[in-house]
Amino acid sequence: MVTSDRLAKALDAVAASGLDAMLIGPSADLLYLTGYAPMPLERLILAVVRSDGQAHLIVPELEAPGAEASALDSIELHRWHDSTDPYVLVRRLLKDAPRLAVGERLWASHVLALQREMPAARMVPATELMAGLRSIKDDAELDRLGRAAEAADETFEVIVGQPFAGRTERELAEDLARILLEQGHDRTEFTIVGSGPNSASPHHEPTSRPIAPGDAVVMDFGGEIDSYFSDITRTVAVKEEPAGYREIYEVVVASQEAAFRAVTPGTPAMEVDRAARSVITESGFGDGFVHRTGHGIGLELHEAPYIVEGNQTPLEPRMVFSIEPGVYLSGRLGVRIEDIVVVTDEGARRLNHADRSLRLVN
Ligand code: ZN
Ligand code: ZN
Repeated sequence: MVTSDRLAKALDAVAASGLDAMLIGPSADLLYLTGYAPMPLERLILAVVRSDGQAHLIVPELEAPGAEASALDSIELHRWHDSTDPYVLVRRLLKDAPRLAVGERLWASHVLALQREMPAARMVPATELMAGLRSIKDDAELDRLGRAAEAADETFEVIVGQPFAGRTERELAEDLARILLEQGHDRTEFTIVGSGPNSASPHHEPTSRPIAPGDAVVMDFGGEIDSYFSDITRTVAVKEEPAGYREIYEVVVASQEAAFRAVTPGTPAMEVDRAARSVITESGFGDGFVHRTGHGIGLELHEAPYIVEGNQTPLEPRMVFSIEPGVYLSGRLGVRIEDIVVVTDEGARRLNHADRSLRLVN
């Protein structure tokens, strides 16, 4: 079973880290390691992955049937009753003054209660430990990410065949959400539609602004298939190109291509950001590229590796991330193009294939 391999690797990673245990609450990390996906709530649910090769799962009584049904046999289940203190139970599973890696999504209320129960514990984020495991995708994960990307590509092809002028950003966003489902997503995660001056706001919330001829329209959208995400951005112009649009569009295409070509195993993640950024800076639009170049994607929409200046993590085959440079001219227009790519033995392969050429819509 895939997940038990993952848990075995996590147990090895904790042992190699010099820490005593890793504590993981309800999150994509827990789903990844155990196959169990409970809701994060005020009652403590916690996986304790110990350096001695044992894994424990602490759950409230009422969650025990769900945990038994979905979690692994190789995890020892501990139930706690509402009248007892679950943090004492955690302490008893650990040595005195333990060194702990704590999952990023574990609620502060639980972390603070654990600190009160074990004042001598040393806690560090489990971020790097988990990123080391989750950022390298297995075949099943690559298959799901590929299917999600394909469904997002199809969504773009459908939407550009529909009229834009006269409809509002919100109407277009609702259409995108519907088409994402029609194309096979289980759930829509987000639909950004920024038109005209709003296209210069990278994470614009769709409004009732009617889209007009001569607008640039940035559409960034994605959803989930079998717990894995899609995320794509395309920019189109309505009926005619706004002034200066073509030059910026071509710069962003060239930037995205340069970043794609910079991806090889062993290359530090930040070099991909630099490759994208240098094309835009040399064209004189450097101030308009206001965000990092990309983010990993998998069980979460944004996860490691982050494609950003300062991230020296060497890229490895099977890492999957977005390449999404953009140029935003405040109050005028913006262009962003985003594809998900997977690192291969020689370079990179795009998971998105939707048209990247300059496109006019009606
Ligand atoms: Zn996106
Ligand atoms: Zn993205």
